[in-house]
Amino acid sequence: MTEPAHIDFFNTNAESWYVEVILPLALPRNYTWHVPSEMVAAIQPGVRVEVVLGRNKKYAGIVKRLHQEKPAAFEPKDVLNVLDDAPIVYQQQLALWEWMAHYYLCSEGEVMQAALPTHFKLSSETILVFNEEAGEDFSNLDDEEFLVAEALSIRNQLRLTEIQQLLDASHVYPVIKRLLDKNLCFVWEELKQTYKEKRETFILLKPEYHEEDALAELMNNWSRAPKQLELLLAFLHLHKTEGEVTQPALLKKSGASAAQLKGLLEKGILIAEKRSVDRLHSVAREVNINFTLSEQQLEALNDLRNSLEQKAVCLLHGITSSGKTQVYVKMMEEAIKQGKQVLYMLPEIALTAQVIRRLQQYFGGYIVIYHSRFNPNERVELWNKVKSGEARIILGARSSLFLPFQNLGLVICDEEHDSSFKQQDPAPRYNARDAGIYLAQLFSARTILGSATPSLESYYNAQQGKYGLVELNQRYGDIALPEIMLVDTKKIQTPDKSKVIISPDLEKAITESILNNKQVILFQNRRGYSPYQVCQSCGWIPHCQQCDVSLTYHKIKHKLICHYCGTIYPTVSVCEACGNHHFTQQNFGTERIEETLQELFPKARIARMDIDAVKGKHAHDALIQLFEQQRIDILVGTQMVVKGLDFEHVALVGILDADAILGFADFRVNERGFQLMEQVSGRAGRKGDQGKVLIQVRNTGHPVLKYVQLHDYQSFVKAELESRHQFGYPPFSRMIQLRFRHKQPEVVAGAARQIADWLKPVFGAYLIGPAAPVVNRVRNQYLMELMIKLPKDLHLLQQCKDQIQLLTAHLHQQPPYKSVIVTPDIDPI
Ligand SMILES: [Zn+2]
Ligand SMILES: [Zn+2]
Repeated sequence: MTEPAHIDFFNTNAESWYVEVILPLALPRNYTWHVPSEMVAAIQPGVRVEVVLGRNKKYAGIVKRLHQEKPAAFEPKDVLNVLDDAPIVYQQQLALWEWMAHYYLCSEGEVMQAALPTHFKLSSETILVFNEEAGEDFSNLDDEEFLVAEALSIRNQLRLTEIQQLLDASHVYPVIKRLLDKNLCFVWEELKQTYKEKRETFILLKPEYHEEDALAELMNNWSRAPKQLELLLAFLHLHKTEGEVTQPALLKKSGASAAQLKGLLEKGILIAEKRSVDRLHSVAREVNINFTLSEQQLEALNDLRNSLEQKAVCLLHGITSSGKTQVYVKMMEEAIKQGKQVLYMLPEIALTAQVIRRLQQYFGGYIVIYHSRFNPNERVELWNKVKSGEARIILGARSSLFLPFQNLGLVICDEEHDSSFKQQDPAPRYNARDAGIYLAQLFSARTILGSATPSLESYYNAQQGKYGLVELNQRYGDIALPEIMLVDTKKIQTPDKSKVIISPDLEKAITESILNNKQVILFQNRRGYSPYQVCQSCGWIPHCQQCDVSLTYHKIKHKLICHYCGTIYPTVSVCEACGNHHFTQQNFGTERIEETLQELFPKARIARMDIDAVKGKHAHDALIQLFEQQRIDILVGTQMVVKGLDFEHVALVGILDADAILGFADFRVNERGFQLMEQVSGRAGRKGDQGKVLIQVRNTGHPVLKYVQLHDYQSFVKAELESRHQFGYPPFSRMIQLRFRHKQPEVVAGAARQIADWLKPVFGAYLIGPAAPVVNRVRNQYLMELMIKLPKDLHLLQQCKDQIQLLTAHLHQQPPYKSVIVTPDIDPI
């Protein structure tokens, strides 16, 4: 880091300091501004400065570097204000941004855009919204703050340009920064999902009774009110087994009344606190690890420790239900004992209350949860807790890796094979698993990748000795892996030759399960009622007007919906091609399965889990809870039922259409198919008896099915790696995908062809395409794809990336292709 105190006074240029600033924009490079001498002392990497870009656009950018190299080509403008006293990100985060921009071919500004909470990103376009909850006590504001706060309280929201008219232009950003810090307003943000915070009353023990002696004394000298004592005992029991105690749970457990609880609250023995269920404020910072590892887990833990002494990354391959989490918990405990921070990443959908509760029970207030649905204020609060080191264990989805860790010791990427770790849009199109490994390296921290079905890339890296490898081959409690049976749907006659939804074998197995008081999970990777309606006489299928895809019929809404752009259409009753009135539903989705089940099992309690049925995070959690409490007999769902859930009473899992899983034209299809089926199967028989899995399939000879039936990951990987090697696919090569987008089909095709032609002299042997993707028009934009399959050679990879950037710029100088959008995707999924 450059220290302004080291100014060399003998150097004639010593007075002139410059800053390289990252702006939250997709600029090809960072710009430089001049630092007025009175600001030099206040500037260091990681603080925000207010700068003007172009004629009058203002931004709060982040200082990357303070230096004395005067730009030769232009006269830099002055920095207007320094906004922060201390950096809001550390050097390691800046290094991560730089790496990410470089590796994934985007700008550091785009990474900054993804990394920072909205509050930190001010620009002329920013809209400030008054925080109603803050009230209108403006007594602690200075004159300028008061002026803005008053205007905000009247108008509710103001653009930054409007605020500029209220104040002396040179003061705007610092004033806004102070108002944001004082929580009087927030930055308006279009929320992707309206998130309603769920509040609940939590019951806590008064801190003085955390001392065992004090508590014992209290209980020994208890007189009168025996019901209250019972209530207190129920509380202590719940606290011990569940971690946090909510008021409803306590009343239910103890059978006490609200009045009796009130008595204990009034005596000051218990405390009630109303707060969001996601936030873990007042939980004691104490570690309470109350389980013992099995022999196998203990062995895995030791192997993991040894492995991480030799290597920075270790793959923990543990079959479903082998208890990987408990091994992680021990590793996390060690890290926080050394005063380090831990980042624990999970796919967003697996971040359920079930997982959160369990970890919180072990780590209390040491753990914080980070996900995309926090409001802006909460996000800043959490940001600061991570930055100060107060938050020690951060549990979050992929974007949690952007938090300003101060002292990271361990990164865990659980379910590392999951494709949701890869961000698709917008840039940076990063893979959080790979970026997590890089982040760990910046801190000399260790990384654990965990999965029951590791990605081929990770497993190959482990085989090659690049990563350590630890295997856990036994399920916790020695429960057998489920028995897997295939149901050949070719042999089943249906009246109208439609697809089999519930085969007789499956029907029989479901009946048995319900009779035995066990639960059933049915998996189908399609939501809606049926993927499309088809004209019975000519085969015409209704398509989206803006996308080149058939529409999915949703029976509950009685609408046709495009799953690509979300447009909703009325159902069709007359064929547009031949005028016929008769339509059939081809294939089936989760809605249709639910309906069929209701007909077959009128008495069963059936629920559906897909993004149509489960809007918002709490609906998801609520459904999981109902299922946990055995208030649902049959759960039908998409991928949502697969991830990270642990149910005790599931005896049967049905995979309804394996052909659909194995039928994609993609080199990863076998890997995905194996992972999906093995993971779904793993939901069966987690406690007690061996579970059963029925796979309905026409193509019974598909090789992947054999490995799934035997739960034989090793043989599957061996065969799959051989075929990848033969055809030169990852992990034996690196893929880069270029996507082209334009509203005219000729233009997009011409642009893709042009880039391919330019790449040919050097990279000709590695090009696949250009070609139109299966769905070649989305939202009225035509698409083309060009794949580049490079041998594993870092030099060549870099050369290719450089070429892509150069050629894209070149393409945009050609008049017909000026507005073609070119999107590079490195290691696409
Ligand atoms: Zn027709
Ligand atoms: Zn569409």
